[in-house]
Amino acid sequence: MASLPMPPALNMGPPRAVNEQNRAAATTEVAPVRTGSADARAAGRGPSGAGEKQPRRAMKVILAQPRGFCAGVVRAIEIVERALEKYGPPVYVRHEIVHNKFVVDSLKAKGAIFVEELSEVPQGAVTIFSAHGVAKSVVNEAAGRRLPVLDATCPLVTKVHNQGKRYVAQGRVLILVGHAGHPEVEGTLGQIDGPVVLVQSEQDVAALTIPPDTPVAYVTQTTLSVDDTRGIIVALERRYHNIVGPEIRDICYATQNRQSAVRELSHHVDVILVVGAKNSSNSNRLREIGAEAGIPSYLIADGSELAPEWVKDANTIGITAGASAPEVLVEDVIDTLRTLGEVEVSTLPGRQEHIEFRLPRELATS
Ligand code: SF4
Repeated sequence: MASLPMPPALNMGPPRAVNEQNRAAATTEVAPVRTGSADARAAGRGPSGAGEKQPRRAMKVILAQPRGFCAGVVRAIEIVERALEKYGPPVYVRHEIVHNKFVVDSLKAKGAIFVEELSEVPQGAVTIFSAHGVAKSVVNEAAGRRLPVLDATCPLVTKVHNQGKRYVAQGRVLILVGHAGHPEVEGTLGQIDGPVVLVQSEQDVAALTIPPDTPVAYVTQTTLSVDDTRGIIVALERRYHNIVGPEIRDICYATQNRQSAVRELSHHVDVILVVGAKNSSNSNRLREIGAEAGIPSYLIADGSELAPEWVKDANTIGITAGASAPEVLVEDVIDTLRTLGEVEVSTLPGRQEHIEFRLPRELATS
């Protein structure tokens, strides 16, 4: 297993740094990512007798482009880091700032305290809402307690909230396409006054009891792509003729781009490793897309979760990462593969992302 740097050493960096990193990675040139420790580990697994060296197996690793951090995640992490710098530790974060244990542990080590309920936040303590957004009741509770709040809700999630509110104000019944229990869905349901109905599948659409002549509208969870929601939306449009929904361009660019990239990756590889957390909706979806393309696909948090038998017959291994997984964890997986053989790394050409979201006013100039 590759050893990870201690979380505090992780430089998750500002948006510009991440974009530069993505640009640098967008090359089809072979780009070895050697580390001394990985080579040492690999050497340690070789035959011990002098002159008995056996050739190590060779593997190609192809990285999807884009992969990993999106602009909303970069912004959320930067909000916590800047708040720690400006106000000093501790700062309180409601829910995991993004769904990645490594990121959360890194911020904990710097002085962030993660809580699930505002009741756990001491009076007067700086409080940050996670990238997934929160219900109005949470906003109101924080205001009632006069907690100083920094909102790390991704602007694209806020856009969904505002779109939903506009539809309801037009007198439409709102249908939210998403996964029950996901914090973003809980937040969206709790942001919109009026009738909001959650549907998770085409079967849910068939079971709806809203009369067919009702004016309805739909919005979607941001970590579902256009492709994910197409079937459900077609089913809704068949049932309801007076229906409106957001423009395609309103769907989260990062979700769509990462899914398109993993589909492309599936044409070139024997196995796909998705780096991401088990509770990350978009990472799970990336794994599913790989599997749907007929490629054995595995979701792993880092190199320690890589089972050698998954890759033992693979000549070409594809790697991607969910929107909340830092690049250092992708490198950790590559380091672990290097303990199994020689690795040649290249990156598929893919869409370049140059999106950055502004920080809250309180932190923009600190
Ligand atoms: S996946 Fe999309 S909506 Fe979610 S945080 Fe990233 S940019 Fe925002």
